Amino acid sequence: MGQEANIQPSGVRGFDAHHPPAGELIDKCVHCGFCLPVCPTYVLWKEEMDSPRGRIYLMKMAADGAADINETWVSHFDACLGCMACMTACPSGVDYGKLIEATRAQIERRYTRSPAEIRFRRFLFSTFTRPGRLRALMLPVRLYQRTGIQAFIRRLAIPKLLPARWQVMESLLPEVPAQESIPEVIPAQGKRRYRVGLLLGCVQRVFFAQVNTATARVLSAEGCEVVAPAAQPCCGALLVHAGEEERAAQLARRMIDVFEKAQVDAVIINAAGCGSNVKEYAHLLRDDPQYAKRAEAFAAKCRDITEFLAELDTRVARHPLRLRVAYHDACHLQHAQGIRMQPRALLRGIPELELVEIPESAVCCGSAGIYNLVQPEAAAELGDRKAGNVAAVEPDVVVSGNPGCLLQLQSALARAGKDVPVRHTIELLDASIRGIRL
Ligand code: SF4
Ligand code: SF4
Repeated sequence: MGQEANIQPSGVRGFDAHHPPAGELIDKCVHCGFCLPVCPTYVLWKEEMDSPRGRIYLMKMAADGAADINETWVSHFDACLGCMACMTACPSGVDYGKLIEATRAQIERRYTRSPAEIRFRRFLFSTFTRPGRLRALMLPVRLYQRTGIQAFIRRLAIPKLLPARWQVMESLLPEVPAQESIPEVIPAQGKRRYRVGLLLGCVQRVFFAQVNTATARVLSAEGCEVVAPAAQPCCGALLVHAGEEERAAQLARRMIDVFEKAQVDAVIINAAGCGSNVKEYAHLLRDDPQYAKRAEAFAAKCRDITEFLAELDTRVARHPLRLRVAYHDACHLQHAQGIRMQPRALLRGIPELELVEIPESAVCCGSAGIYNLVQPEAAAELGDRKAGNVAAVEPDVVVSGNPGCLLQLQSALARAGKDVPVRHTIELLDASIRGIRL
């Protein structure tokens, strides 16, 4: 460890020639600053270089060969949540999403991280992108929780002795459910309207298996035959957002193969981060002569579950749920996919449910893929801020459409001493259709 501390991460000047952040996208920024008040890192630190405008300026400098990709330069991009709030706010239509994705891929090729950082990231990617491995890892974790060892260790504040990142990981651990697998084909109830594919996700599949079950049940009740291929891989969202372009492309190709074989009318996603990623497969595979067109066709079929249901005529009755519900907008739904009204409309369709808005709804909760694991302090600050805003509206339950947000909200609310249940939007809809209590 002592030796590692002496190794300085190195850097080189400018970008390489493989898909650098596009000059025409960079030049669209007119430096107006409208994006600054919605950028979580600018809101926290008031540093120009930790704002979208500042980061675009840093990209421009590197593109012009005027900046080294060194530790300081990289730190401003590592601090970016990739939440895309800046894109919603930008009047000039700057596609910051494509810019940050290209920049991060450059960083991973041209910058050498410290050995400890490399090991940590390797661990995250080799675990969170492999549902089989993640599931196997959760068996001892479940034992750790169910035997009361976790509660005992927490009472003694032992997790506080761990390094910050491992502390966060321990605090984010939800109660791991029994691992249930979903049948590969679930028939439609009544006359079949569509045959749809269900993307199972990695974190969703292992930590929130009940969300996939609820999604399939709602789709089936609404007349859709649901196909959930067991062979589907991770969608690669975490890898894309971390600049691991080639590994993400390999997963994208496998995903396309699997769902082409399933022959579905639409591919339904219930995790915002996965949804925004698969909708961008055509961009990721644009240079691949075998997959570019197929990626376009696949992406055109992808729908968030709330987006799909909002377009479908309701067939089954909703039963009342007398609950005050706060809806938390996941960034990769509201900013990356522009989905804001659909989840609210579905919730408003539940009789007796009272929907309340959370203040600062455009600001990220700090989850952002692996952000809360690699940038624990900033993520915790944002989580605490979000927990305060949720608590201020005194809901019976808070709902969202992304597993990362669910984990982050659960952990931040617990830290704040607030006993507010956190659920996926589809779980409320499922409970309403079945006429059961949440
Ligand atoms: S993606 Fe989010 S954190 Fe990054 S610059 Fe844009 S608003 Fe700021
Ligand atoms: S709002 Fe758009 S154009 Fe204005 S500074 Fe931000 S990114 Fe640039």
